[in-house]
Amino acid sequence: MLGISRDDDFGLCVRARRDCIEGTVIERFDGNVGTLVSQHSLQIRPGLHISGTRHIGFLSHGCDPNCRLDMTHFELVALRRIRNGELLTIDYSETEDRLFAQFACICGSTRCRRWITGRNEAATPTGQRFLAALTRVPA
Ligand SMILES: [Zn+2]
Repeated sequence: MLGISRDDDFGLCVRARRDCIEGTVIERFDGNVGTLVSQHSLQIRPGLHISGTRHIGFLSHGCDPNCRLDMTHFELVALRRIRNGELLTIDYSETEDRLFAQFACICGSTRCRRWITGRNEAATPTGQRFLAALTRVPA
């Protein structure tokens, strides 16, 4: 039901391989559970992370995502109708207290937060400068 693809716009990403409706469990996942934090790991709860997943670790971030992760049942769930071929996104801040690396977001959503952090951390100095530059009024 999922495919990893390498995409000019999104890099390594995950796309749906068929249509599904809101609430669909798109995938039940497993992997290596431990304390390791990496670019492709996901937080299960504070201090516990899952890595080596087949697809989940490669999901793109979106500020208005079409999927969410259920870290109790290890399920990827559709938040709305998703069409075959659509890029699958989650909000990284929903699972991660601290991101492996914060980054500027260009997801295009009207709700885009522009700079993505974990839910329990402040923007890095780089992020603060980035956000300050966005709000500066042009002369
Ligand atoms: Zn965004």
